[in-house]
Order: sequence, then structure tokens, then C-alpha cells
Amino acid sequence: MSHINNPMEIYKLLNGSNCKECNEQTCLAFAVAVFKEKKPIHACPHLDKKVLEQYGGVVEKPNTVDEYKAEAIEMLKRKISLIDLSKAAQRLGARFSDNRLTIKIFGKKFSIDTRGNLSSEVHINAYMVVPALNYILNGSGKSPQGNWITFRELKGGPSRYAHFQQRCEKPLKRLADTYTDLFKDMLEIFDGKKIVSNIDSDISIILHPLPLFPIMICYWKPEEGLESALHIYFDASSDDNLDIESNYTLNEGIALMFEKIALHHGAQNQ
Ligand code: SF4
Repeated sequence: MSHINNPMEIYKLLNGSNCKECNEQTCLAFAVAVFKEKKPIHACPHLDKKVLEQYGGVVEKPNTVDEYKAEAIEMLKRKISLIDLSKAAQRLGARFSDNRLTIKIFGKKFSIDTRGNLSSEVHINAYMVVPALNYILNGSGKSPQGNWITFRELKGGPSRYAHFQQRCEKPLKRLADTYTDLFKDMLEIFDGKKIVSNIDSDISIILHPLPLFPIMICYWKPEEGLESALHIYFDASSDDNLDIESNYTLNEGIALMFEKIALHHGAQNQ
């Protein structure tokens, strides 16, 4: 950010439409958020490549998804080191002892200390760490309501739904069609629960990627003339505990993880 001196210089790069797709109310609010390093500039989907390249120094465009995640993690760790972690633990109803806050990601312990150092029971990949840190920073602590809603009903959901379908629901549906142990494995690995839901799916499972952020995955088997379907539902309190970007990242991570597991299974069964 060295050669940017004020938010107006960032604002000038934006299209001024105030379309809110970056989750800010206005382009100006977004410019301020970028200036304060609360948001990466590429969170505005309307910047053209030339602008991004020209302002490469400002944007610090990472080369790979992993680098981007690593950067995001570092930024979030720094932010967490600046907050009162014991208060955050109270807000989230999480454990706080020995200067560390502990939550469970899919039932596995994950901790961060007051200096921003992370530790976890098992390896937790970047797709989970970014949402977990955002949850610790911004989660309201509101308890799940037990009312399930779709991704499109979440704040910022409609404009991201096409991506969500493409990167999260469709890959899982394809897996569920061919890999019959998918849900059994999900329940085992992720400490989930099979339930009878009021949605008339053939299979419904509930997972807890984060303590106050459950998701329900429903699958309809193919029937004569009807394709199978898979949808992921969220608790009505989700917007209070996790932002839409983190939600998307988390579900993308789940889909990627199971694609890997299924590949591994396929290799074993041959
Ligand atoms: S997404 Fe871009 S154009 Fe839309 S409000 Fe945000 S900054 Fe402005």
C-alpha cells in the first residue's frame, strides 16, 4: 500500500456504481476498507485486469489461491492479535484458557493465542482456517435457530449463487452420484449427524464446520427421468456468524476435500 496515500486514490479506480457486490454499501466504503487493509482490492469484481496490473503494487495480487489464502491468514492473525481474545471467547461461547481461544472445526480442536499463533488437533487446511478466523473476529455468537435457508437467502448470496453452485454443490452432487460412501465418510470424518429433515430428500446430514455455523447437505437420488440433486442449506442465523465469502470458501474447501478423498478411494478400489 506504500504509494497510496488516501482512500480517494482507490475510489478513483472503482466504477462508482455502488452495486454492493463487494458487501460494502458504497464504492467509497469499499475504498476505505481497502485502504485500511480490511479488504483486498480484488474483492470488487468489476475492476478490469489492466487496473489491477497497473496497481499491482497496491493490489499485491498473489499468484496462486494458496498464496492468497496464506496472505489472508496472516492478515487475520494480525487482526486477532489486536483484539481482546477473552472477550471474543465470551461473545462466541468458546473456551478461553492459557491465553488461547479454542473452537471446534468439524469437531476437531482449533486454537489461537493472544499473539495470533495457531494450533490444532489435526491438520486444518487454509479453506477452513480463513473462515474460522473470520468467525472468531466477527461472529456474533447467535445460536442456530433450527430454520434452514438456502444460499440465495443469505446476505450477498444471490450474486454469488452461480459460483456457489459451480464450485460447491455441483462437485458434491457429482461425487454423491458415483461414490456411494460419500455421506458415510462425511459423517465419520466430520463428526456429522444423519437426520430426518423436513426437506423431502433421500439423505440429509448436518455438519458443524464451526460451532455456531451448522450446514445441512441434502441429496436426492436420481429417479426415472429425473436427475439427482444436492443442495446445501444454512441456518437462519448464519449471516450473524459468518460472512458470505467465508461461507463460500468453507464449502468450496469441503467439496475439494471430498474430491480428493474420492480419488483416493477410487485408486484403492482399482
Ligand atoms: S463491488 Fe465494486 S463497483 Fe460494486 S459497490 Fe463494491 S466497489 Fe463499487
